[in-house]
Order: sequence, then structure tokens, then C-alpha cells
Amino acid sequence: ALALPAAAYMLQDQEVHAAEFERTFIAVKPDGVQRGLSHRNCGVMRCGNHSTTILQPPMRDAISEIISRFERKGYKLVGIKVVVPTKEFAGKHYHALKDKPFFNGLSEFLSSGPVVAMVWEGEGVITYGRKLIGATDPQKSEPGTIRGDLAVVVGRNIIHGSDGPETAKDEINLWFKPEELVSFTSNAEKWIYG
Ligand code: ADP
Repeated sequence: ALALPAAAYMLQDQEVHAAEFERTFIAVKPDGVQRGLSHRNCGVMRCGNHSTTILQPPMRDAISEIISRFERKGYKLVGIKVVVPTKEFAGKHYHALKDKPFFNGLSEFLSSGPVVAMVWEGEGVITYGRKLIGATDPQKSEPGTIRGDLAVVVGRNIIHGSDGPETAKDEINLWFKPEELVSFTSNAEKWIYG
């Protein structure tokens, strides 16, 4: 192995990393997508002859906020698309919850507008992704988590993340074709993983 040129070492490293890393399915749900747009809806208030710009409460784009939290951690985005799922598709995604009283409303909601579907890759990304997201009910999510910082009620908790290796595999297969996902080594990886 010592005789290999540098490029061959890099290729070997890439293969090792590509094989080791796990992947998870993350989605910004319709409420997250819409929330991100609201800060641009600044209005103009007229009071006599004066007009004042009304700024909405501080709200950053939810899509970029969510992407940046995963990216800053050191995880790698390997697939992304914006889709409006049908209710049937949403029901497939949430099939494990089909007996819950909120299943119908949940499927309807997920199919009510654009969803940003993503696949993130990295060591421990399934479990740690759930930590970044926070508890299902935003009232119980710690501050600092995505739901803790950006959402208030369980029915509008803005983001989905796979809850285990099996669901991650199933959800990635449901939402993405293999050719829609990329494998690559980022320059930062050697500094993230050593
Ligand atoms: P998670 O999204 O954290 O994995 P679950 O798989 O238990 O949580 O639920 C899926 C989604 O269903 C939640 O993210 C939430 O949007 C919705 N949900 C869960 N519980 C309720 C509830 N009691 N009422 C309304 N919606 C709910």
C-alpha cells in the first residue's frame, strides 16, 4: 500500500467512507416551506401621511435554516428535491401510523403543498439527525433543536426525520430513485472525521 500514489490513497479513502456512512431521509414539511416565505411578506402600514414598514417577527427561511443545521454539524447532502406528494403517497410515507386518529389529517397535510425531500449522509446521521430535530411535540423539544426553536404544535412541527435504519432505508427508497442520489467525498471530510 505504501507504493500507491496519493490519488490512489484518496480513492481508497473515498470507497471506505462511502461504504461506512449511513443515510437518513429528512423532509421540510409544507408548514416549514411556507414559514420560510413569510418573512418576505413585510407590509407597509399607513398612518396619516406617514408609512412605516412592518417587519414580521424575526423569521429566517425554514428551508435554509434546516439545511444549514445539518450542514454545519458536518453531515452531507446527497439528494434533494421539491415535491407536492399526493395524499396516497403521504399515506404510504406515514403507513406505520395508519391506525392513529390523526392519520387522515396528517396525510392530507403532508400533501397540501411543497415538501423539500432530502437525503443526508454521515456517521450517526439517523440518530443524531433526530436529536437536531427534537421531540415530536415541539412543546417538549429542547430549545436549540429545530422543532424547539421553530415550531409550537405537534401537527405543525415543520420537519420529518427517519426514526431508525429500517425506516431510513424504506423512506429513501420511497422518495428517491437511486440515480437521484450522489456519492462523493467532500474536502471537509478529512477534517470532520480525521
Ligand atoms: P416523528 O415525526 O417525530 O417521527 P411520529 O412518527 O410519531 O413522530 O408522528 C409523525 C408525525 O405525525 C409527527 O411529526 C406529527 O406531525 C404528527 N403527529 C404525531 N402525533 C400527533 C398528534 N397527537 N396529533 C397530530 N399530529 C400528530
